[in-house]
Amino acid sequence: MSRSVDRFLDEQELFPSGHSASREADRPNAHNVNAMQCAACNQSEYLSRDYCRCGHYLRGQLEDEYLTWEKGLQANHKSMLEVIERKMKPMRYLIATTIPFMLVPLAQLTFWPDNFSIGSFLYWAPAMMVAGASAVIERFLKRPLVLSTFRLENYTFQSFLEERRYSLNEV
Ligand SMILES: [Zn+2]
Repeated sequence: MSRSVDRFLDEQELFPSGHSASREADRPNAHNVNAMQCAACNQSEYLSRDYCRCGHYLRGQLEDEYLTWEKGLQANHKSMLEVIERKMKPMRYLIATTIPFMLVPLAQLTFWPDNFSIGSFLYWAPAMMVAGASAVIERFLKRPLVLSTFRLENYTFQSFLEERRYSLNEV
């Protein structure tokens, strides 16, 4: 994890240019996207600095924030799954109640072949209707989940920084 953070920061060249001494002396603006707030002294410090000017280990703080964000993504996804499962439950019971109807034509064919006709398959109609409706409802409910799954499978440290940036600009 730590290495991926290092690599990202190196690639993005977020390190403040060393030769501009005047900039180095100032604290960044709190809303600067390349800044973060030090948890120890509450001052803003450049994201690229490993340590705040007060000595607090900023890289560690950023990693903690990333891990919290990551856990939030996973928890959010899990609760979404649970909500869908709960909403689909009555539908699943309904499907179960249609199963005996589906057995009618099969029973007729086995035990009373004289009573059997193609019309007997009409007993399958409720099951098909319920299954069809249930598939449509499930698909509708799962739409936000598709997005969440995509996020979960594709997030990187950069996504974390981008969302962080976005929430900063909203404040
Ligand atoms: Zn500090």
